[in-house]
Amino acid sequence: MRAIQVTEHGRPEVLALIDVATPEAGGGQLLVDIAAAGLNYIDTYQRSGSYPIETPFILGQEGAGTVRSVGPGVDGFSVGDRVAWKNCLGSYAETVAIPAAEAVPVPDGVEDEVAAAAMLQGLTAQYLATSTYPIQGGDWVVVHAAAGGVGHLLTQIVKLRGGHVLATTSTSEKAALATAAGADRVVTYDEMIDAAMEVTGGVGVAAVYDGVGASTFDDSLAALRIRGTMALFGAASGPVPPLDPQRLNSGGGLFLTRPSLVHYTRDRDELIGRTDEVFGWIADGSLRVQVGHRYPLAEAARAHTDLEARKTTAKSLLIP
Ligand code: NDP
Repeated sequence: MRAIQVTEHGRPEVLALIDVATPEAGGGQLLVDIAAAGLNYIDTYQRSGSYPIETPFILGQEGAGTVRSVGPGVDGFSVGDRVAWKNCLGSYAETVAIPAAEAVPVPDGVEDEVAAAAMLQGLTAQYLATSTYPIQGGDWVVVHAAAGGVGHLLTQIVKLRGGHVLATTSTSEKAALATAAGADRVVTYDEMIDAAMEVTGGVGVAAVYDGVGASTFDDSLAALRIRGTMALFGAASGPVPPLDPQRLNSGGGLFLTRPSLVHYTRDRDELIGRTDEVFGWIADGSLRVQVGHRYPLAEAARAHTDLEARKTTAKSLLIP
C-alpha cells in the first residue's frame, strides 16, 4: 500500500510517499481501507519534531473508511462497517490497522469524508464549548482563527448553545467564512480587544478559545471579564512562554486551562457520547462540516505547506 512516511523530522519536504506492506489486523484491531484522512495541525508538530516521535513512522491521526478485516478479540464490528477515528498514528495511508477501541461507527446520514473531517476538530470544538467552558445562553466569547478547522466548527457550536461569537480571522475571505458559520462579529486580531469591550459594554468576554497561542495569548487574557476562562488549546503561531500566575490575579481571578482532546475522551463512553452529539448535529443539519481542500495523498507535503502558511480554510483532507 502507499503511505506518507516521516524518516527524519523537518519541513514539509520530508514527507515521502512510500510503498509498504499492507498491515494486518492484530489482536483488538480493525484493518480499515481509508476513504479520507484528516489534515490537522498536530500532524505538523509531529512532522517537525516539536512533538517528537521516533522515526520512521507513518504520519496522520484521523480518518474514515471501511473495515476490511477484524482482528482476534474484537466484538461489535464486522467487515464492511464504516468507521472513523481521531487518534491512530498511520492514517496518511491507503490502509491502517487501528485499535477497535478507537473506532466509532459512522451513521448512515454521514458520508465518509464528512466523518473524517468531523472527528479530531469536531470533537475538539464540542468539548471546548460544552465542557471546558460550557457556553451559557447570551455569553459573548472569542473564537480565534474562526475560519480554520476547529474555529469554523466551534463558532457553529457556540451559536447552537445560544452564545455570541466574536471571531478573529486574518483575511476578508476568511471573515466571510466565519460570518457564514454564524459569527456575530468578525474582526482582525489587532481589533479584538476593542471589539470585545464594545460588544460586552466594557465587561469583557466570558471565555476565549485560543488555538493560535504565542501571538494572541496576551490579548486573549486582556479581553476576559472577571473570572473569565482562557481556554488555550493550541499553538498555531508558536508556544506561549512561561507565565507568572499573578497575571491571572491582576486580570480578574481568571481561569487558565490548556486542554487536549485526549483529556476529554478518557474512555469509550466519553468518546462515543461526544461523537454521537457531533454526528447528531451533522445529521440533523445543525452543524455544517465544510471541506475546504482535498489533496491527493501523494501531495501531503503541499497540504502541510498550505496549512502552515495559513492558506487553508475549514477542513482539509488527504484522499488516498
Ligand atoms: P487551522 O485550520 O485553524 O489552522 C490554523 C489557523 O491559525 C490558520 O489558518 C490561521 O488563521 C491561524 N493562525 C494565526 N496565526 C498563525 C500563524 N502564525 N501560523 C499559522 N496559523 C496561524 O488548524 P486546526 O483547526 O487544525 O488547529 C487549530 C489549533 O488547534 C492548532 O493550534 C491545533 O494544534 C489546535 N488543536 C488542539 C486540539 C486540542 O485538543 N488541544 C485539537 C485540535 C487542534 P488566520 O489566517 O485566520 O489567522
